[in-house]
Amino acid sequence: MQFLGKDIGANLIGGVWGQASDGATFAVTDPATGSTLGHVPSATADDTARAIDAAYAAFLKYREDPVSARAEKLRRLSALISQHQEALARIMTAEQGKPLPEARAEVASSAAYVLWFAEEARRSMGDVIPSPWAGRKLMTTRHPIGVVAAITPWNFPSSMLARKIGPALAAGCCVVVKPASATPYSALVWGVLVEMAGFPAGAVNIVTGSARVIAGELTRNPKVRKLTFTGSTEVGKMLIRDCADTVKKVSMELGGNAPFIVFDDADLDRAIDGAMIAKFRNAGQTCICSNRIFVQSGIHDAFVARLVARTEKMVVGPGAQDGVEIGPMIDDAAVEKTQGLIDDAVSGGASVLTGGGRHPQGGCFFKPTVVAGATPAMRIAQEEIFGPVAAIYRFETEEELIAQANDSTYGLAAYVYTRDLGRTFRMQDALEYGLIGVNEVLIVTPEVPFGGLKESGLGKEGGWQGLEDFLETKYTCIGGLQAQ
Ligand code: NAP
Repeated sequence: MQFLGKDIGANLIGGVWGQASDGATFAVTDPATGSTLGHVPSATADDTARAIDAAYAAFLKYREDPVSARAEKLRRLSALISQHQEALARIMTAEQGKPLPEARAEVASSAAYVLWFAEEARRSMGDVIPSPWAGRKLMTTRHPIGVVAAITPWNFPSSMLARKIGPALAAGCCVVVKPASATPYSALVWGVLVEMAGFPAGAVNIVTGSARVIAGELTRNPKVRKLTFTGSTEVGKMLIRDCADTVKKVSMELGGNAPFIVFDDADLDRAIDGAMIAKFRNAGQTCICSNRIFVQSGIHDAFVARLVARTEKMVVGPGAQDGVEIGPMIDDAAVEKTQGLIDDAVSGGASVLTGGGRHPQGGCFFKPTVVAGATPAMRIAQEEIFGPVAAIYRFETEEELIAQANDSTYGLAAYVYTRDLGRTFRMQDALEYGLIGVNEVLIVTPEVPFGGLKESGLGKEGGWQGLEDFLETKYTCIGGLQAQ
């Protein structure tokens, strides 16, 4: 795979592009065709340790850079991402499968996050604290935490990296990235871009390959002071445990089980538009996808009929093809898991109103599906669906709804459709979710803190909070200031 004339089938360690020390590689597949796009290195634990050493060596110098210089490089990086948006989007669609307009939007979001952190870099301020003692000054100062390990998922292979590389470089940290094996090219392109933006060798290192091998070294190595992870709750929990021995700071952006709630008084047109986006974007493979659609009984039948009609019109096909709204799922295991959840729901009494199985296009394509009559005990209610399946639950009262919506170990995103202002605020208080959209589903932007409650995560990405996680606070007390 080429990007700007460079072969990106290599890892970047300390400013040098190369292969794994034992020469091992793995194939990257286009989920729309099953064809091989190319091969990337399968890095060893020693390669990962070299990447950490390179990041540490770079950090000792990079942290001395004036903040204005860091901000200027980040602005250049943001501009480069925007300038090469089309090429970056096409690489993403090729390996991830999402429709090109979604890939373009994700690349634009990456540029926006990097620009946001270029601006936030200049606001990493400490405090001067009123002293209870005479002749002393008390203050806090902010310092970059050190070497950061970033592990990212395949569903948003660029923007999830932007939310980690952006604040890390803004804070003065250097990074070792381990991208998802399904989508390594969307990470490797960042290596080319950070070099073009003028970041020093070692500021960003990228190693691809076995998660266990690479993450094993990243979590074990004491030079890594922070791990920032986006992925499943299952893996996140293991990584938290693995970081305990060296007491690393961790940020975790984990799974979700978003309720999408439609009350009788909702604007139905708006709720349907919202449901289509919140459910089917990225073929339903989104952590903030609506996983459980709760519809109040007075509006239930009208909502379901409209949702089915819209779902049946969706255009399924290769993401690079014009007009396609749903691309392939990431791999066959994802297709099988989605099918299993539908089969379990049907065996429990739910009915498939449209879709329900593999798409005639074959391969990893799945029919956009609506399942009605789902109940909280079904697997489809308890697990992340991570596929293009809208599961609908009927409810009667607000009290019943709140209990059901919060009946999840996850707490990432929730959506509410209502025109009642009092209910809006009651929902804001009652819903145990880190992100809440009321009459809106496109609520994520660099200016706001993104992060889950409960088992959906620790820490925030974006907003002023997004920089905090990459900084340490030191307190200094300066005494002996009285006149002698
Ligand atoms: P995943 O299986 O947890 O993988 C995520 C990353 O962790 C990949 O780089 C993966 O590498 C690596 N990994 C896998 N097993 C590992 C292990 N034993 N030790 C260390 N690292 C390991 O998740 P995914 O399937 O890529 O992504 C989907 C999940 O991410 C969903 O649960 C979704 O909700 C969540 N997500 C959350 C957010 C958020 O902001 N909260 C955003 C996007 C996605 P390999 O690819 O090499 O296995």
